[in-house]
Amino acid sequence: MPAYDYDCKDCNISFTIYVSIQEHDSGAKIKCPHCGSDNVIKKISGFFAKTTRKS
Ligand SMILES: [Zn+2]
Repeated sequence: MPAYDYDCKDCNISFTIYVSIQEHDSGAKIKCPHCGSDNVIKKISGFFAKTTRKS
């Protein structure tokens, strides 16, 4: 199950949510676990962050 990292723009915390791809694609609202705001932005998770760097 992939993990998604989010930043809450209201209280400036980062949190990680584990959701299924299906759930994610269906546009489920992600809410900040700290303040309950849905004013969150998704960050690139480690799942996709494996960028290859060519020298
Ligand atoms: Zn928050």
